Amino acid sequence: MTLLKRLILFTFLFTLAFPYQAFAYKVVLDAGHGGSDPGAIGVNGLREKDVNWDITQKVRDELTALGYEVVLTRKDDSYWALAQRVEFTNAQQADLFVSIHANAHPDGKTNGSMVLYYDNAYPQEDYPASETMKQLTPYSKDLAQHVLNSLVAAVGTKNLGLVPSAVYVARMGTIPSILVETAFLSQSSDAALLASDAVRAKMAKGIANGIAAYAPPLFTDTLTHWAREAIVRMQNKGVIEGMAANLFEPDRALTRAEFLTLMDRVFTFSEMKASCEPSGTVTSLVYGCQAGAAEQSYKDLPTSHWASPVFAKAKKLNLLQGYSDGTIRPNQPITRGEVAYLFDHLLQLSATANSRQQAAQLPSFDDVPSTLWSAKAIYALQNKGLINGITNTSFKPDQTITRAEIAALLNRYYVK
Ligand SMILES: [Zn+2]
Repeated sequence: MTLLKRLILFTFLFTLAFPYQAFAYKVVLDAGHGGSDPGAIGVNGLREKDVNWDITQKVRDELTALGYEVVLTRKDDSYWALAQRVEFTNAQQADLFVSIHANAHPDGKTNGSMVLYYDNAYPQEDYPASETMKQLTPYSKDLAQHVLNSLVAAVGTKNLGLVPSAVYVARMGTIPSILVETAFLSQSSDAALLASDAVRAKMAKGIANGIAAYAPPLFTDTLTHWAREAIVRMQNKGVIEGMAANLFEPDRALTRAEFLTLMDRVFTFSEMKASCEPSGTVTSLVYGCQAGAAEQSYKDLPTSHWASPVFAKAKKLNLLQGYSDGTIRPNQPITRGEVAYLFDHLLQLSATANSRQQAAQLPSFDDVPSTLWSAKAIYALQNKGLINGITNTSFKPDQTITRAEIAALLNRYYVK
């Protein structure tokens, strides 16, 4: 099996074993009908496509305020085929799909809210679901239940329950998917609710809160943080991890152990060869080649420490040396200068004359004189657009780096 195949298999198994439980960050909202397809026509003349569109926009705003990334299928009053909606959604790498509709019944009396989802316990031979959707039954059902409860609580509509359904958009996708029937346009009191902007706003809030109750947005302590986008992307890429309880602790200083762990994920230490720096470095923390101490262990790094394996790998690469007192200080915050030095070392950037030449043309930081041990690395990374100063003239090499800052750096590295 190739590495790629193994990786895909692992990802697949991992996805099935731990899917969608802890959080979500991207939601696809689908306003039902549109364009030449008006959907149901209400007893009060309301067109379903207009009601759906209004509620969908309101749900989008609610979810965005809660910290989700939201994508819409149709973005105006245009016709989208059902297959187009699902195809679009499958390409989004989203976490959840929610289609929004209003209901109709020929008896004119039925009223209330219901939520449709695909349930593999009730397969319909003529309308087979995607293989993924079959597996996702418990997740779609759970999402449906949360949204229905919250919607009914918000507006006081009659609870008509969950409906196992083979409706196209709920059965053909690859993420937990539901179709919300907010209320009946064919029944007068429900139609009056749907005609009210205030009620539609309540419905939207109910739907959004139901989604959030099922899967809160990723890292609740980063929702309004400047580095939110980079943090989410790096988490999605499997580079960074959060702390317990869906928190990221963005403004906490990054520790040396955490930094090494990140670097191992990015550069895969086990596939690298040790290389020596041409000249020694001047710091209490010395990176680079030093003969002799290879088998020495550190006083403050017992093998029981969670980061002990990554420190061992880093040591093999001569990436870092301990302090003269025999410690390696895994839990000590790492400084911006140290991060730049080691990251650059790993990139082998400063070894190229080209980047040195270009770096010389850039404005320099007042607190990074060329004699500083980390100067070459800092300017090489600045030149590559990977690292910024605190201001245009100050880099603060001795300041600790936050977890948000490292996420931003790594995001820039992957975008390049
Ligand atoms: Zn509809």
